[in-house]
Amino acid sequence: MRNWPTLNVASGPVEVTNRTLRDQARPVLYHYDPAFVDFYAHTCALLKEVYQTKYDVIIMHGEALLGIEAAAAGLISPGDKVLNLVSGVFGKWFELFVDKYGGTTVELAVPYNEAIDPDDVRKALQRDSEIKFLSVVHSETPSGTVNPVKEIGPLAKEFGVITIVDTVSGLGGEQLIPEEWGVDIAIGGPQKCLGGPPGLALLSVSPDAWRALSQREAPLRGSYMSILDWKKAWIDGGTFPYTPSVSDVYALESVLAQVLEEGLDRFANRHDAIAKATRTGIKEMGLELWPAREEISGVACTAVTMPDNVTDEHLRGHMRNRYGVMVSGGYGDLAGKLIRLGHMGKAAHPTYMAAQLAVFERSLIDLGVSVRLGVGVGAAMAALENWDDSE
Ligand SMILES: *Cc1c(COP(=O)(O)O)cnc(C)c1O
Repeated sequence: MRNWPTLNVASGPVEVTNRTLRDQARPVLYHYDPAFVDFYAHTCALLKEVYQTKYDVIIMHGEALLGIEAAAAGLISPGDKVLNLVSGVFGKWFELFVDKYGGTTVELAVPYNEAIDPDDVRKALQRDSEIKFLSVVHSETPSGTVNPVKEIGPLAKEFGVITIVDTVSGLGGEQLIPEEWGVDIAIGGPQKCLGGPPGLALLSVSPDAWRALSQREAPLRGSYMSILDWKKAWIDGGTFPYTPSVSDVYALESVLAQVLEEGLDRFANRHDAIAKATRTGIKEMGLELWPAREEISGVACTAVTMPDNVTDEHLRGHMRNRYGVMVSGGYGDLAGKLIRLGHMGKAAHPTYMAAQLAVFERSLIDLGVSVRLGVGVGAAMAALENWDDSE
């Protein structure tokens, strides 16, 4: 067996806290034990708070991608036009689901180091009145960027378009207010900023989305992918369409409680401060941030353009093998072009930031890239002068 890393600062799944691990190990209950039904309801109430919404929330029991495909499967009928906003790997991925369910994709794409411009969304919606759905990735993790969902959502609603927002790596870290922002179906995941284990899809569903799901010609029912089955069983009846992943629900309750105890603002600000400090360190090292502009950089991870004279495989392999530090690289079309320093959940902290920056610098030097040891860590730590865990 391989040695395990000393630090998992990948771009999800991330390290979870000891409290989460302990809570996940609570005794496995029969899902119709009244104690579990209560626990499930309590977990949904916490999820609503973290989503900052009065809309219904649904937990689906597969990784976040299940929720994304479920939104496509439930909404898109053959021939439906979907405006797909593409600023990265996950945005492009959604087109596969549009195709699979017979929809027609209208693509609005920007380079994968950029963000979508709401003016272009308006123009696209004006050009084609047949567009019924809009899909957008909030935090485009593989690029380390964010899209302006706050502007895009209300625009779509102006045109009567239903919005599907992948906020898998945004939830908790990037602000998102479903009601105010015109977000009909949001899909979040526990394993990114929330800092939980993977395995669940966390959905917020608006009344418009419920109408669209239930009033189409052949509503999707009796399927693992049916969001409507969850409404009928859980929301309307307090039962389950299938056995929920009991232990994953324990972990979810635990991470949501921890986020809310810390405070939503404080939690998000912690991510923001570490992301900013990390960028400061990278710039000070003379390296290039992958996002075209700092305003579009996300809080989940910092994507760094691959320096010359070293490959992604080499650098990440070296960090992992020599120092036990696991970071993510580029993904899909971005493979080899960048490396990502992760700072989600527990890793959004000076200790994790300093350790990975120090090992990053040491590894670059080991591999012959000229950086001065300590420059990035120093600048990043200097940017955190107001940090205080004790308050
Ligand atoms: C991680 C991620 C996903 C996929 O979620 P998994 O549960 O890991 O499959 C989808 N979209 C974005 C933006 C992500 O960061």
